[in-house]
Amino acid sequence: MTAMDARETTEAFIASADAHSAHNYHPLPVVVATADGAWMTDVEGRRFLDMLAGYSALNFGHGNRRLIEAAKAQLDRVTLTSRAFHHDRFADFCRELASLCGMEMVLPMNTGVEAVETAVKTARKWGYRVKGVPAEMAKIVVAGNNFHGRTTTVISFSTDPEARADFGPYTPGFEIVPYGDLTAMRSAVTENTVAVLLEPIQGEAGVLVPPAGYLPAVRELTLERDVLFVADEIQSGLGRTGRTFACEHEGVVPDVYVLGKALGGGVVPVSAVVSSAEVLGVFRPGEHGSTFGGNPLACAVALEVIAMLRSGEYQRRAAELGEHLHHELGLLKDSGHVTAVRGRGLWAGVDIAPAHGTGREISEKLMDRGVLVKDTHGVTVRIAPPLVIGKEDLDWGLAQLRAVLGA
Ligand SMILES: *Cc1c(COP(=O)(O)O)cnc(C)c1O
Repeated sequence: MTAMDARETTEAFIASADAHSAHNYHPLPVVVATADGAWMTDVEGRRFLDMLAGYSALNFGHGNRRLIEAAKAQLDRVTLTSRAFHHDRFADFCRELASLCGMEMVLPMNTGVEAVETAVKTARKWGYRVKGVPAEMAKIVVAGNNFHGRTTTVISFSTDPEARADFGPYTPGFEIVPYGDLTAMRSAVTENTVAVLLEPIQGEAGVLVPPAGYLPAVRELTLERDVLFVADEIQSGLGRTGRTFACEHEGVVPDVYVLGKALGGGVVPVSAVVSSAEVLGVFRPGEHGSTFGGNPLACAVALEVIAMLRSGEYQRRAAELGEHLHHELGLLKDSGHVTAVRGRGLWAGVDIAPAHGTGREISEKLMDRGVLVKDTHGVTVRIAPPLVIGKEDLDWGLAQLRAVLGA
């Protein structure tokens, strides 16, 4: 294929996608055909280093052998039963995931936002049945600039106008306070508050790490006031920050973990709410469910993910490579090419100095040099490669960033 044919191939794919899909995304103009580890290859045969990892859905890399083998073995046995019947991977999955989280019970769903919805329903039901909140009065406190997904209830408590506009009427029952502001959190919690729902690090907001001591103080407050602390670790959890959970960096154990993304190993969507028997014990048959939630294929893949996390190997890698990543990004900050670097482990939000252009422009220039990242909020570029990335590849990716910034 000549360069001209190749470009036409890419343009034709994109034109066809644009003609027949809703325009609810604005992807970079690259059409991926295959992928392996931290690398993707497009329809023209060009190779790209994946420094986004599907927003942490690909923590273990593309085509991870252990995960693909687990999926293939399960494909030949049974893929779907519905929860009308038991299947032989379900108990292992629930027990192992609860154990990884230091919890007792699991409620499996598919996508992240379904798990958030499930956590909202769980907290409300717990509030009415266990805490004794009067009917219809339950309140959940959330943080400004949150991202918890895209359903109508979940965007009801978003502060992002793009995510909310024209999608009302909105679900009531949520109180929004500034992220990291403990005083605001204290005054928002009342006797009808059933839960505080937070991302321990806000990913979509630009990888915002709350002030030290904030999460432990929220933990203390929620214990004092008989309120559930629900940690949305869909993006921050399962190794990304160098620990299994981002909450661990602050020594915090929440009442409820909301998990997704990496739990499906980049193979299938798997999400879950994980908590105590007191909290998840509120559900009776018929009160909640999902046709695909906890299906045999999902359980088989997630079981392998859990086994991999059990080794601690991926967390260690994220911690070590993360230290290197943040050291290198720190140098770019010292030299003024970027104005801020946030994050933990193999996860960084980098604010590009305005003179260098927008986050989108930097992302496009990086694409031209074979590195794929995603911009957010105008000035921020998010860096979150698969945890299996080689150090040389990470260094090569960082060299491309320096080159784009003329550093
Ligand atoms: C991605 C994400 C979600 C939503 O997950 P989906 O699988 O896209 O529904 C919720 N919360 C956080 C923190 C996320 O990063």
